[in-house]
Amino acid sequence: MKPAPFEYVAPSTISGVLEILGQNDPDEVKLMAGGQSLMPLLNMRLSRPALVIDLGKVADLDFIRETDEGVVIGAMTSKRAVEDSELILREHPLLWESTVAIGHPPIRNRGTVGGSMAQADPASEYPAVALVLGAELVAVSARGERTIPADDFFVTFLTTCLEPDEVLTEIRIPRLAPRSGWAFQEVARRHGDFAIVGATATLRLEAGVVVDPRIAVFGVADRALRFSAAESLLTGQAASDEMIDEVASQAAAAVEDPLEDAHASADYRRHLAGVLVGRVLREAAVRAAEASTGA
Ligand SMILES: Cc1cc2nc3c(=O)[nH]c(=O)nc-3n(C[C@H](O)[C@H](O)[C@H](O)COP(=O)(O)OP(=O)(O)OC[C@H]3O[C@@H](n4cnc5c(N)ncnc54)[C@H](O)[C@@H]3O)c2cc1C
Repeated sequence: MKPAPFEYVAPSTISGVLEILGQNDPDEVKLMAGGQSLMPLLNMRLSRPALVIDLGKVADLDFIRETDEGVVIGAMTSKRAVEDSELILREHPLLWESTVAIGHPPIRNRGTVGGSMAQADPASEYPAVALVLGAELVAVSARGERTIPADDFFVTFLTTCLEPDEVLTEIRIPRLAPRSGWAFQEVARRHGDFAIVGATATLRLEAGVVVDPRIAVFGVADRALRFSAAESLLTGQAASDEMIDEVASQAAAAVEDPLEDAHASADYRRHLAGVLVGRVLREAAVRAAEASTGA
């Protein structure tokens, strides 16, 4: 199918984008980043905007920068640029590892970091990674700028807390605390397919007990889920096999309404969520132990 007719503009500045948004009903407008999710929706006429604003020429949204706090990534930065970034590999190997799990090279060449966050696909890697890394997302509109913690950003299926007239401009990812361990795992039918279920975690070990664990899954529910109760259960405990099994079971039980589709039943997704949470916690604990001993 071909898209329903729409007007197309490609401003070169963010102020130009905001000006055009101000001149139109934002509900009739779609922003386009890499187009990897939007174009199929337009082609299938599931989305019928009157106007598409292409962000592709807004050069100041395409960057990866190191700051005192960590790393800032412009919303229009491609996944390929993240994959090719030595800064990301060094500072955020978890983000790097999740990036190469996304789709195939052509998808990563065009698809952007901001596009994946704004798309909020429940099976997408980046929202879960944003949750465990404690990312903040920055959005601008004619009303000004606001900074949104990842914990508040992802609302439900393909829905974020962004207002129709807001443009996501950058993603701020704080540096992991020294001696942190991290892990990322997903199960997909073939490499490059959307994950059936994935999990990611970070934690530290101090005096033999777990400090500040963060655990998230994707592909299981209507959005990436963080497991605060399971994190509390693990905090201050030794990362023993028994403890990790208990935490993983609690996380799996906490999924309220697991997704069910042609790829996997709800029960299978819940089971897999528990298995993967257990695996990422073990792997993160090994990395944290190695980092503590300098191994
Ligand atoms: C075959 C295939 C396989 C894929 N596999 C995966 C996968 O395994 N994992 C995965 O995570 N993704 C996967 N994707 C999706 C891909 O990662 C997309 O690139 C991503 O979902 C959207 O990024 P985009 O830059 O293409 O955004 P677009 O498609 O251009 O936009 C997506 C949505 O975000 C909005 N948006 C974009 N930028 C902004 C902004 N700056 N501010 C506000 N709103 C904005 C748009 O209006 C639109 O609603 C796959 C896609 C395909 C076609």
